[in-house]
This record gives sequence, structure tokens and C-alpha cells, in this order.
Amino acid sequence: MARFIFITGGVVSSLGKGLASAALGALLQARGFSVRLRKLDPYLNVDPGTMSPFEHGEVFVTDDGAETDLDLGHYERFTGVPARMTDSVSSGRIYSNVLEKERRGDYLGKTIQVVPHVTNEIKDFIAIGEDEVDFMLCEIGGTVGDIEGLPFFEAIRQFSHDKPRGQCIFMHLTLLPYLSASGELKTKPTQHSVKELQSIGIAPDVLVCRSEKPIPSRELEKIALFCNVRKNCVVPAYDLKSIYEAPLAYHKQGLDQAVLDAFGISPAPMPKLDVWHDVYDRIHNPEGEVKVAIVGKYTQLEDAYKSIAEALTHGGMANRVKVKIEWVDAEVFDQGDAAPYLEGFHAILVPGGFGERGTEGKIKAAQFARERKVPYLGICLGMQMAVIEAARNVAGVKKAGSEEFDHEAGGKRFEPVVYHLKEWVQGNHAVTRKTDDDKGGTMRLGAYDATLIEGSKVAEVYGSTSIDERHRHRYEVDIKYRETLENCGLKFSGMSPDGKLPEIVEWEDHPWFIGVQFHPELKSKPFAPHPLFEGFVQAAVENSRLV
Ligand code: GLN
Repeated sequence: MARFIFITGGVVSSLGKGLASAALGALLQARGFSVRLRKLDPYLNVDPGTMSPFEHGEVFVTDDGAETDLDLGHYERFTGVPARMTDSVSSGRIYSNVLEKERRGDYLGKTIQVVPHVTNEIKDFIAIGEDEVDFMLCEIGGTVGDIEGLPFFEAIRQFSHDKPRGQCIFMHLTLLPYLSASGELKTKPTQHSVKELQSIGIAPDVLVCRSEKPIPSRELEKIALFCNVRKNCVVPAYDLKSIYEAPLAYHKQGLDQAVLDAFGISPAPMPKLDVWHDVYDRIHNPEGEVKVAIVGKYTQLEDAYKSIAEALTHGGMANRVKVKIEWVDAEVFDQGDAAPYLEGFHAILVPGGFGERGTEGKIKAAQFARERKVPYLGICLGMQMAVIEAARNVAGVKKAGSEEFDHEAGGKRFEPVVYHLKEWVQGNHAVTRKTDDDKGGTMRLGAYDATLIEGSKVAEVYGSTSIDERHRHRYEVDIKYRETLENCGLKFSGMSPDGKLPEIVEWEDHPWFIGVQFHPELKSKPFAPHPLFEGFVQAAVENSRLV
């Protein structure tokens, strides 16, 4: 039976609860325990799949096809445990389940209320798979005191009472603001935030205090006293140069020890931290630097491409170089010349995206990379744009485009080299879609197998000819253009196992130009960089020696 750690936040949002949870998960693993991490989000969307990346950052996709919060990406990158559909839930999903049961008559005529019906639904969710791991870490999104978060706080309070004493603990993250005028770190917001928690019946066992400045011991003592927490359970969390320092930094500040103490686990097994020392060393002692352009649309919000940025960092770690990322807005050269914006980069990455805006710029970026022999990695939309570029500029299909843009504009302007996929095979059953389906959860989502062509660049990169990767797209390159494009040198080097769906394309006669229909970035880890990112950065390093 798992022990439960509930992670909440107070004072301000964006304190790094997700990172703290992920780092704690990694530390518990380092001490030999098995873990699973979960995110409970109070917003009313059923899942983040339909939210703009500007709103909520990247949508992280799990193997089993759930569109989830980007914190699940942190969890996977730090623990290596593949997240599941049942590791992410929102108020929207909880309420929709409750309402579905109500319509079915499952509640036998009762009045449906937040307590107990909504809270029970949340508690059932938290308990899924509780027998499988030693520790279940559940992070509650938002900040204590938010109106929409209340049912979640009430549910975790009840949950801890339903379990035997000592099986659940509460960890609360707060901020100690620094007032430069008086040169002081202030503890009052933390006290207030803990009071808010206590007023809803939750007494934190561990307090993690974010601070820009070192927290003097007497302040830690004061927090312990005023917040009713043991002194060794007030853990400072300072700003870090890299998120991958977090496990070592939290260990140094005693977070894992505090958590094990709170559970009364003694003696605690010693942690094995070699992996994290190696990660630290690779981040802090690079032997060179490469400059990579990410040519996208959501460039103002880096969280929109979180996993890509992380995967590039991992690729850099594998090659012992620092990857300097520059975000280039594709729309800027939609009409004009891309060269002035792209010259000087050692490699170009065009990430996934939705909608027509900026796509002409992305097509030009693919053209630039092809013609100038700059390493190119096209991910999902980035692959589709590379194919359209090849069709238009090499194969002479002048009006090549994607049906996605015609659907959006409500006209027929393009020859659909990329078309709306309406039938495919998942495992051993057929999936079908219509043009006017709901937007939520109807894409080709989750892990699918692909077969790589022996002798292709991509098979060499993977060191294998059978792979599985995570997908999230509605449109697909049309296989009927395969022969035309292959005759021009764009090889379809990876296909779905039934041979119907192009998964990977690559230019022969190019040092490194690969487009993939899936999202390899979602599976990269600092301690196990994804082969495509390792290879891409290696190609950037080789290119940097030429220029
Ligand atoms: N918009 C494209 C599609 O739906 C690409 C999606 C993506 O890049 N994730 O197929």
C-alpha cells in the first residue's frame, strides 16, 4: 500500500511545485523506493488539449494517449516513470464524470453535492494503482485559497483521514520575499499561507521555502515555530542554474530526509546519487557550444515548447556541449527572405504547431536547411512543412499544402500533400474520425509503433528498425506522394507497421535532415537523451566545425 505525499503551494503561483515534486520523486527512487507522480488541476477544462500553448504551455502526451499538464513532463524526465492517463486530472474531468454518473442514475436519486460526490470522485482518482508503488506523490495545481481548488484540498484532507495514521503527509511550497529596502527576507506570507491551509484542516508536515537569498537559521526556526512544523522539515529552496541540479540541491537541504522522517521511516536507506552527479557534471562542464534555432509560432512563451528545449539540453549533455537555443518567430519571414534570420545557426528545429499562421516561414526554414545543408529536425508540423517544401520546390507540386489550412480558411487553395487522417489502426482496432468531430481528444494520440528502413539515417540514429513514439496530430503526409518525393531524394524512412502512414522522412545527400510525425522530445531524459536529439546535436557540433 503506497504512502501518499500531497504537494500544495501558497503565496504565489509558479513556485516550481512540479519541479520540487519531480526532484523528490527522483530522490526517493535514489533511496530504492518506487514512485508515481500525479497532478490534480483545479481548472474547468476537461484536459489541457484544447488550451492554447500561450495559456498553459505545452501539452504533454502520455503513451496511453492522454493530453496532460506539462508538469507530467518534469515527472517523467526526473523519474523515468512513464506517465499514464490516470496521472492527470482536472476539475472539468471530475465534474464531467460526476455528471455522467448522475445522468446514468448511479447516485440512486440523491442530491449531488461537492461533498461528498465531487470529493469522492477526487479520492477515487488519487487511489488508482495505490498498490503498485511505495510512494504516490500528488501535486495540487494552483495556490491554496483559490476558489476552484477547494474541493481538491477538502478531498486530500479527507483522504489522509481515511488512511491509517502516518500514511499521508502534506508538503507545502511557499515564497520568502526579499525586501531590499530593509535587507530582509519576510516570513509573514508563509505564515498566512500555512494558516489558510490549517483553516481547511490541513497541517503541513514539510515546508519548502523558495528564496532568492540564503535563509538565516533563525528565520528557519521562526517559520518552524509559527507554522507548527519541525525545524528539520523547513527546507530552503534556492534558485538554480539548471533544473537538473534540483535533486542534488534538495538532497543537500534535507528534503528527502525530512519526508522520510515525517513518515517515521528509520533508518532511511542511503541514496545512490551517481546519476545526478553525472548529470550535474555534464551540465556544468560543457566542452563547447552550439547555436540552434527553434523556428516556431509560440516563441514568446518558452513553456510552449518545454520538452523540446529540455530534449535539446539532453542532446547537448550527451555530446558534452551547451546548446544555446534561440527562438525565431516564423511569421517574421512568412513573406520575405528567411536567410538573414537563420544564418549563423548550427542547426534548425521546426517544432509542432497548429493552424496556418507562420507556416510559410516554417516552409522557408526547411528550404534554407535543405539548400544550405544545415542540420534540420522537423517535429510533427515541422515534418509536414519539410514535405510540403520538398513537394513545392523540388518535385514541382506547386500548390502543395495541408488540408489543415484549407479547413481553417474554408476554401480549397492547396493540393493536400498533407491530408486530414480519418481512419487508422491503433493496436488491433480501427479508429475513425469525421471533419466536424469535437476538438477535444480526437487526434491521433499516444504511442504508436513505426518500422524504419534498414540502412536509413534514422535507423542508424536509433540503432534499431522498430520504435514506438508518441503522437498528437490530426493531419498526415499522404502516402500517394511517396514515389514522386523519393525520386527527388526525400526518403520515407519510417512507416506505420501497416505501411500506410509516413512516420519519418529524410533527405539523402544531406548531412542530417530528418522529419518525424511524432514527438520524440516527450521521451527524452537527462540521464537517457533521446537518440534523435543526441544525433541532431551531434550534427550541429559537426556543422559548427565547418562554419
Ligand atoms: N497541426 C498538425 C496536425 O494536426 C501538426 C500537429 C503537431 O505539430 N503536433 O497534424
